Order: sequence, then structure tokens, then C-alpha cells
Amino acid sequence: MKDCKTRKILVIDDSQTDLFLLQKHLGKMGYNVLLVDNAHDGINAAADERPDIILLDVMLPEIDGLEVCRRLKAGSVTSAIPIIFISANDQPCDKAAGINAGAVDYIAKPFDPGELRARVESVMRTIVLEEKILLLAHTDELTNLANRRRFFDMLEREMFLARIKGNSLTLMMLDIDHFKKVNDTYGHLTGDRVLRQIGKILKENTYPLDVVSRYGGEEFVILMPETTHSKAVKAAEKIRRIIDECHWDIGENSISISISIGIASIDSHDSLELIKRADNALYMAKKQGRNRIVCWEDAHLVKKPEKMFAGEYFELQAKISSLSKQIQSQVIEVVSAFMKTIASKDQYTADHGKNTRAFAIAIADEMGVSQELREKLEVAALLHDIGKIGISDSILYKAEPLGDCDRQIIEQHTIAGVEILEPIGLFNQELPIIRQHHERFDGNGYPDGLKGKEIVIGARILAVADVFDAMTTDRPYRMAKSHETALQEIIDCAGLQFDPEVVEAFQVAYEKNKDIWPSDDSDSQFDLITETVGFNAGSQY
Ligand code: GH3
Ligand code: MG
Ligand code: MG
Repeated sequence: MKDCKTRKILVIDDSQTDLFLLQKHLGKMGYNVLLVDNAHDGINAAADERPDIILLDVMLPEIDGLEVCRRLKAGSVTSAIPIIFISANDQPCDKAAGINAGAVDYIAKPFDPGELRARVESVMRTIVLEEKILLLAHTDELTNLANRRRFFDMLEREMFLARIKGNSLTLMMLDIDHFKKVNDTYGHLTGDRVLRQIGKILKENTYPLDVVSRYGGEEFVILMPETTHSKAVKAAEKIRRIIDECHWDIGENSISISISIGIASIDSHDSLELIKRADNALYMAKKQGRNRIVCWEDAHLVKKPEKMFAGEYFELQAKISSLSKQIQSQVIEVVSAFMKTIASKDQYTADHGKNTRAFAIAIADEMGVSQELREKLEVAALLHDIGKIGISDSILYKAEPLGDCDRQIIEQHTIAGVEILEPIGLFNQELPIIRQHHERFDGNGYPDGLKGKEIVIGARILAVADVFDAMTTDRPYRMAKSHETALQEIIDCAGLQFDPEVVEAFQVAYEKNKDIWPSDDSDSQFDLITETVGFNAGSQY
């Protein structure tokens, strides 16, 4: 709300003496005073300057004050500005005519400065009150964000502006994942605290022109003027990550909160269509597993064949998917032929992929990850060290500690693995896991120095599985550690090298599986690769 100093008063009067006196007294009261000596300029100044109050003389040449008042009240941008008449016509019928024309008050000339102050301040108090009421009507009580009513007002306005200026406009719809559980477990007051905090995060991570609103219970919308779809995706990803990584301390517990986001951008459609699209994208984000962003435009780039019967469509989709798995397994056979070169060198390398896969899957199952991620993890676990194919034996099997130079070469294997697999085009889903399996939770890993949940979950799981197998197997430079010692070392590194949630899941998985680890399955690593791709769901550990 504006304070007294920034309040503007427009005076329209053809008497230079009165203009001078009004300027003097209103100026003393702290107002910013604009002076105009004719009706035409007065009407224009009112529209251009949008003053808080207009002081209007009744007797003006050309257009009289009553007519000026009527015109201002009829103008869309000036209709709400309160007008006070100030006139030498001081009969009750003159005052009634002024009020009937739309003015809020009437001051007789020659005016008394005390009366002028009292009447102007009284109107100003009403303005302040109206602004407060308007603010309340537009604000969500719990989060202090704009409410749904304000959002719809702003949406119409911004849609209009975007259309006439040819600007882009993007709408983000956000919904807290499994929020009911937070309420049910920790109570509604805690739920309210989370809502307030999320509101704060949204406000702090958007631009001043963005309209952040609470749309409903645990749903928020962000209207982003002059924002392209790709910029909005980046902003959404930042928000999603911040909320995902935030530590929500509830009493003695620390809980995780995530949000799903749907995004849609303006084209020729109306505002309701924009909301419908963002909502639809949000629904897809929920359906795809939550804690993610879906853009309506991306999701609808490839239109589904409408005329095809649903059954035929899904049958074709299943056939293509099975065909791609067959091709994938054939490619892996070729890849595995190369990998045999490495495997022939020591038993660790031969069994490492297989063991890592077993550990990774046990963790994944403990964490209840999606079947899709579980399958990606299986393939990634088997292929994660493929980049070592280019590293010379003298470095790979060195008995003494590695120097900086050798270490740098070894560290290239994550990127090299991706470079080998990328052109095949069948492992795009697994590549981030392979590239990031040596990243550390504290940000000190390689190759990208990613931190915390910037590292994909598959890589955070693979990191624990990979290290556990490395520690529990004889290496050229040291003897194998016992399972218990290795487990303890992994626990000690929770929050440093490893994601604490993954370590926790690993502890549980270890207790359940320790008697059967490592597997005494004598299948070669390469048979397992083929098996994994072809018959994912049937693997036994
Ligand atoms: P989903 O991931 O599918 O969105 O699951 P959800 O549990 O978040 O969604 P659902 O729609 O089932 O539940 C929304 C919950 O939000 C239910 C309601 O208790 C809670 N909620 C809505 N408004 C408020 C509020 O103002 N304060 C609190 N504490 N909770 C609220
Ligand atoms: Mg909801
Ligand atoms: Mg929800």
C-alpha cells in the first residue's frame, strides 16, 4: 500500500490563485500535487497519471466541472478515482448536483485549510481501507500468495496483453505429492506449515512479474508473462529440485516433500483452455510417478492415431516395444564380445557387473522404485564400467596406489562409457545412470561434480552397489574386506559419498540378503546381460 508521500492529487481549476493556494496547502500535507487549468487537460491527466484523488472546480470554461465529473466516471481507467468538488457555488442544490454527478465530497470556496485537510484525509482513509479490503479479497490467508480470484483476474489481463503484444505466456500448475499423508501423519497444522513454506519457496524463486497463486488446497499456479515454454521448464525444474532437496524438519522427524508440475503455454486458445492443458500435464506428471514436470506441448507433439482402435494401438505399441528389446539384446551381445576382453583379465571384472546388478536391484526393491527404473538400473549396472575398455591394463591392474595422471585416466571411464553406448541409440535411458555412477552426494565426485538429488536416483543406487562389490572383492592393490566392514564403511559415508536414503535401504536389503550374497550363480556376465534385457521381470536373486 502506498504511503502518504507517494499519494497523488490532481487539481483541475481555471483560477491560478486557487491552483497556487491548493498546491501550497496540499503540498504541506505531503501530497504530490498535479495542477491543470482546463477541463481537456484535466481529463487527459487523470487518465495518464491515475491520481488518488481529483479536486475539481465546478465553473470551468468550455466544459463545466459537472460534465468533467460525469466523463471521468464513465472512463474505464478513471471511474474509480474519487472526485471532490471545490467551488464558489455553495448552495445545497449545487452540492447535491455535484454528489449526483459522482463526486464523493464538496468543498466551498473560499476554502478553509483545516476543512480542506479534514475532507481530503477522510477520502484518503476510505481509499486506504478499500485497498486493504481489496488486498484481503485477493490474498490467500494461509500463504499470503494471490488467491484463485486474483489469479483469474490476472490470467484474463495477461492473456489479453500477450495476445496484443504477441508475447509468450506460460502457466505452471503445481501440486504437492501425497500431501494427504503429511496431514494424516503429522496433523493439519504441520500441513499448513508446509503449505506456507512452499508458497515462500515459489515466491522466492520466481520473477516479480510472475503471478504466484494458491489455486486450491495444495495446488498452486504460476502465471509467467513474457516467458517461453523452455524458460518455464528451467524455472520449474529449479523449483522442483529446491522442494525435493529441502529438509522438512517435523518435530524429531525429517520428511521429504515433492511436487509435480504441469506446464502449458499460450497459443490461439482461450484462458480456460490454457488451464485445462496445464492441469492435464499435471495429471500426466502424477501418473508418470510424481516429483516431475510434464509440458502439455511436449506430451502432445506426437498425436495418437485417433482413428485407430484402442486395442490395435496398444497391440502395435507392445510389438514395437518387444522388437526394440530384441534389438537391444542383440546389440548387447556385440558389446559383450568386446567386454570379454576385460573379463578375461580378472575375476573381479568378470563378476562385477553381475554382483553390482544384484546389489542395486535389492536396494531398488527396498526403496520401492518403479518397474521402469528397476529395468534401467539392471541394464546400467551391467554396462556401467564399459568405458574401462579403453584404459590400459597397466593402469587398471596396478598394484600400487594410482598417481594423479592415472587417476584422471580412470575417471574418464564414465564419460567413455556414455560415448560408446550413445551412438547405439538404445540406451538413452541408462546413460545418465552410467555417466553419474561416480558422482558423490556431497558434490565431490566426477565427472560433473553433481550434488545431492541433482544426481539421478539410479546413479545414487548404483554408486552404493558398485562400491560394495569393489570393497568385498580381492583387488590387485588390496584384499577383499568382509561384508560387515564394507557395510559399515558405506554407512559411515552416508551423506558424504552416498545418498543417506539409499544407504538406509541398502542396510535393510543387506540384512535380508546377506546369506545369499554374493550370488554363487556361475553364469557368465554376458549371458546375464542378454537375459536382463530379454526377460527383465523374471530375474531371481
Ligand atoms: P497426490 O500426490 O495425488 O496429489 O496426492 P495428495 O495426497 O497430495 O492429494 P489428495 O487430493 O488426495 O489430498 C490433498 C490433501 O490436501 C487433502 C487435504 O487434507 C489437504 N489440504 C488441502 N487444503 C489444505 C490446507 O489448507 N491445509 C492442510 N493442512 N491441508 C490441506
Ligand atoms: Mg491435489
Ligand atoms: Mg497432491
